[in-house]
Amino acid sequence: MPDGGLAMPERYPQLAVEQIERWRGLDYRELAFAVLSLFIDDMPGPELAALIDRTYTPEVFRHVRAGDDRRAITPLHALEPGLHLLCLSGGPTLAFKDMAMQLLGNLFEYVLAARGASLNILGATSGDTGSSAEWALAGKRGIRVFMLSPLGKMSRFQAAQMYSLADANIHNLAVRGVFDQCQDIVKAISADPDFKAQHHIGAVNSINWARVAAQVVYYFKAYFAATRGAGEEVSFSVPSGNFGNVCAGHIARMMGLPIRRLIVATNENDVLSEFFSSGTYRPRAAAETRQTSSPSMDISKASNFERFVFDLVGQDPVRVRALWAEVESGRGFDLGASGEFSRVRDFGFVAGTSRHADRLKMMRDIWERYQVLIDTHTADGLVVGLAYREPGVPLICLETAQAIKFEDTVREALGFVPARPAEFSGLEDSPQRYEVIDADVGAVKAYIAQHDQPW
Ligand SMILES: *Cc1c(COP(=O)(O)O)cnc(C)c1O
Repeated sequence: MPDGGLAMPERYPQLAVEQIERWRGLDYRELAFAVLSLFIDDMPGPELAALIDRTYTPEVFRHVRAGDDRRAITPLHALEPGLHLLCLSGGPTLAFKDMAMQLLGNLFEYVLAARGASLNILGATSGDTGSSAEWALAGKRGIRVFMLSPLGKMSRFQAAQMYSLADANIHNLAVRGVFDQCQDIVKAISADPDFKAQHHIGAVNSINWARVAAQVVYYFKAYFAATRGAGEEVSFSVPSGNFGNVCAGHIARMMGLPIRRLIVATNENDVLSEFFSSGTYRPRAAAETRQTSSPSMDISKASNFERFVFDLVGQDPVRVRALWAEVESGRGFDLGASGEFSRVRDFGFVAGTSRHADRLKMMRDIWERYQVLIDTHTADGLVVGLAYREPGVPLICLETAQAIKFEDTVREALGFVPARPAEFSGLEDSPQRYEVIDADVGAVKAYIAQHDQPW
């Protein structure tokens, strides 16, 4: 595991319908082991099983709706027959990033302890990756976290969740810029082998494959919860930014899970939905990235998208390298006129955009119709998902965060502030610790060098 991450297998594991059906009765931990052991082959089975058992517990993923079963880890909440929310945000930071990050934290600890090594983790966050990584790694020995976040662009709850962590191994760097600039700095440092080696740096972004593999698990879990028998189809709607979550759905589908549609929902930053409607992929510049009320999707350059395009162009690495040279140069590419683009539908993909007024209206509708409170990102998923809903095909909308993380927008939509679990009361008032820094690779390197002390 170089970087503490995982290389993706050359080919996706293939499962026949009967094999998939044999997993139907498994609980979350058993299913996670069944899926992850197809991707992780450099760790003894019993140790992987023990690590999974420690990770996916009802105590860690405890923030589920009253009435839902915590033991399911990712309970499926039926709004009405054939329309479900998949609750992925029961973890410590109330966002779906915990599903993978809690596992990664334990994997890192395992690998480092086995090697007697230490690691500096460098990441960029638009709001939820950072807190999720920090909560998974706070206080872990041999691991230091340097997390770049866009100064002033996250919700107050999101910022407080990161910046209030007091553990000495956590370093918050609040960058004067937008998320994509944070991500570019991480990429630039990751592309400097000397600096990386000198400071034992590994990345923990959506770029990291172990994360994607951990996310494949809940597509299977949800599939079993929403269907009764072999081969039945479901569709998933996925609030998307960096394309990590829906990429896991794509992998589950490539493995053989009967997924009819993968519905990519974006906010006003619609670079992905533009691609799926026209074939044009035109990453936006930092200045074009809009700050929205679903801030974890304020992304204009999706780091996991390359994986899907690789599959779309027939897994031709030379072609993907040429396309990404166009992306890196800022021009982007247009597959609209190519035969390849028409295959998008064979992969199940459709997409759409949800805007501020749409998401607020959806939050109100869901509250009035079902007395269920949803967050702004989940609302985007429902807006786009419902537009593609088909009779007879269960629609599963991924709930990627909890409403209390975006209190100001909930107040705007519903006129009241949701109650929060006691452990989060007064979070925004706790002391915060972060370093404001320019969007500059040199400045970030200097900070890391200065704080990379021997353990
Ligand atoms: C990260 C995040 C997303 C976007 O997920 P990607 O994997 O980046 O596409 C959506 N909603 C919330 C709440 C998130 O934290």
